[in-house]
Amino acid sequence: MKSKEPFDRVSAAVSESRLWRRHVDMGQIGATPRGGVNRLALTIEDALAQTQLLQWASARGYTASRDEIGNLFIRRKGTDATADAVLTGSHLDSQPTGGKYDGAYGVLAGFEVLEALDDAGIETVRPIEVVAWMNEEGSRFSPGAMGSAVFTGSASLDEMQGKTDRKGISVRDALAETAKRCPVPSRRLGEVKPAAYVEAHIEQGPRLESAKATIGVVLSIQGSRRFLVAIFGEEAHAGTTPRRHRKDAVSAAVAAISALESLTADAHDTLRFTVGCLDVYPSSPNTVAGKVTFTIDLRHPDEATLTDIGDRIHTTVKEAAALRSCTAEITNVSYVKPITFAPHVVDRVRAAARDEGYPSMDLPSGAGHDAMHLSRICPAAMVFVPCLRGVSHNEAESATPEDLAAGTRVLARVILELAG
Ligand SMILES: [Zn+2]
Repeated sequence: MKSKEPFDRVSAAVSESRLWRRHVDMGQIGATPRGGVNRLALTIEDALAQTQLLQWASARGYTASRDEIGNLFIRRKGTDATADAVLTGSHLDSQPTGGKYDGAYGVLAGFEVLEALDDAGIETVRPIEVVAWMNEEGSRFSPGAMGSAVFTGSASLDEMQGKTDRKGISVRDALAETAKRCPVPSRRLGEVKPAAYVEAHIEQGPRLESAKATIGVVLSIQGSRRFLVAIFGEEAHAGTTPRRHRKDAVSAAVAAISALESLTADAHDTLRFTVGCLDVYPSSPNTVAGKVTFTIDLRHPDEATLTDIGDRIHTTVKEAAALRSCTAEITNVSYVKPITFAPHVVDRVRAAARDEGYPSMDLPSGAGHDAMHLSRICPAAMVFVPCLRGVSHNEAESATPEDLAAGTRVLARVILELAG
């Protein structure tokens, strides 16, 4: 039986006040008037946030490096220089009206673990690296989780570097700009193979708060499918065309969305169905619409359900459109399969919460995270902490110093065990 002593020591060395101060300092970079942050990927604010992290790292003597897609790594040495590193982290970029905790928490919690290990005088066999993944939010450059996707080989470096923002600035050029603003020694992609990855994050949903649980033991990340629907009718005069002669694309779209709501109705509210964009052509008040397009975002933790329901979208829409004398075309835009985290790491998260005496709860993640890519190349898991009313992607996002520290203590125990 292994001594619990170093685990208790690192946990005791986690400083709630230091962690909170770091959040306050980081929250000033790109601060918005309504209390949130605007730190889009590879902007000057993003570079300033990285510079801040690097200052803290150099004060502790940790080394830093950045790879070709802009992921930033802070390394605390292990006793075995050849051992693969244990990685932890999240992202420093935000939505344009983002909160202070989404992403930043995972980076600062990881950094707090490094400091706590130092303060407790604990050496680990494996090196530990805190990562700030590039462009998790996907707000300035699409797709999101770009840095972790390239790092794990799920996306090609060349293709992602070629992506552009709305002004036509490429990721490649923005990366060069960031390297100038915040210079860091380079590292090659693939230079470090992670032994494991654990990410701390605010829940971004209300379940922990409702259950009065401090720690979310994340079992999986639900999968998502996106579709684009185009419904074709026929433009006609709104005053002269009898309704029975119309091919009204708006009427067909309403019927289709209503049929989809029935198809996706779920007593457990696990299946998530969203129509987020809807465009009407020609969008004139006195013309019956000739065409409507809308998007569908469908999410579920279980792949079989996602496949089954998703596949039925085509016929459901076509049948509803046909009843209104319209036709429909459905395009499959993307299918990101659900992922399940490594059971042995998930078990450690649950055990660490128990050792700390925190009430915990098993749950799937409703949102995507960098951990989803990492889980494809190494054992991975996530630690959630509650956020006020589950509000996120919002300047009002809020979390308590106590909960942030609790999640960090759990993270510290898990990381220490993984790093040996
Ligand atoms: Zn995030």
